[in-house]
Amino acid sequence: MDLNAKIYVAGHRGMVGSAVVRRLQKAGYQNIVYRTSKELDLRSTEAVNSFFAEEKPDYVILAAAKVGGIMANNTFRADFLFENLQIQNNVIHASHEQAVKKLLFLGSSCIYPKMAPQPIKEEYLLTGPLEPTNEPYALAKIAGLKLCEAYRDQHGSNFISAMPTNLYGPGDNYDLNNSHVLPALLRKFHEAKENNTPEVEVWGTGTPRREFLHVDDLADACLHLMLHYNGRELVNVGTGEDLTIRELVELVRDIVGYTGNVRFNTDKPDGTPRKLLDVSKLAKAGWRYKTGLPEGVRTVYQESFQATPIS
Ligand code: GDP
Repeated sequence: MDLNAKIYVAGHRGMVGSAVVRRLQKAGYQNIVYRTSKELDLRSTEAVNSFFAEEKPDYVILAAAKVGGIMANNTFRADFLFENLQIQNNVIHASHEQAVKKLLFLGSSCIYPKMAPQPIKEEYLLTGPLEPTNEPYALAKIAGLKLCEAYRDQHGSNFISAMPTNLYGPGDNYDLNNSHVLPALLRKFHEAKENNTPEVEVWGTGTPRREFLHVDDLADACLHLMLHYNGRELVNVGTGEDLTIRELVELVRDIVGYTGNVRFNTDKPDGTPRKLLDVSKLAKAGWRYKTGLPEGVRTVYQESFQATPIS
């Protein structure tokens, strides 16, 4: 990918897409193209085809998707399946039609079976039933990565797929109704500290284990894969390390500086007991994460909740 190559980043306003654009700009790429969803509705085959015919990108990073937390995923089941299939079908097919040199499709670790052995290897895909609440989204993502494989098999397209673990970072969703645990904890502890609230409620037992990756590290991994990975098989992107929700709660509480009580509400669901990716394939491809969780959470807290960074 020379620095003048035209790179289309689909979903550049999202948490992942915006991090990818920042990373490409930092690396010196001069010719990044993107469109807002108003300018280009990726669900429209016609619109996507004419955009590709006009722009003829050399490379494509597909970070556009309809996303949301457990509530949104479970409520708008048809939208999540249908619209994600539309977006990825349109972009992947148009990339084939316009002879794009390489495409990176981004998925999610929810594609793996709910009861997959831990840590989760790429080969565990399609070995068991999915988590029911996000099955529509996961099925769309599985179809997307299989479509990339199929274009490679049938046409020799260099279309690759990466599956990131739980992400956090700038541009995250802080809506307590449908955010993930890390942004939810940051917000809850921050507001409790500001308002001198004596107790903060967190969900579940605190025993489930989760893995977290800073989105800037994901963006770095995306660039690495664009430059160095040309395999047919999907690649997990994570840290390979996890912690309990209880440990995460303590970490976030310390960083925010909240000194009140924490109450675990066990009426709320725990979800999957553990979700840790096996990242040995990515390590073999020469990549490792850089941002440790305490450092990453500290930075995100400063950037998102404090006007001036702590010196
Ligand atoms: P998951 O990784 O798909 O299960 O999604 P989440 O990030 O929403 O939840 C991860 C774990 O954090 C679950 O065990 C939740 O019960 C727990 N958790 C604790 N407090 C909260 C909270 O305030 N919001 C969310 N979303 N999860 C919480």
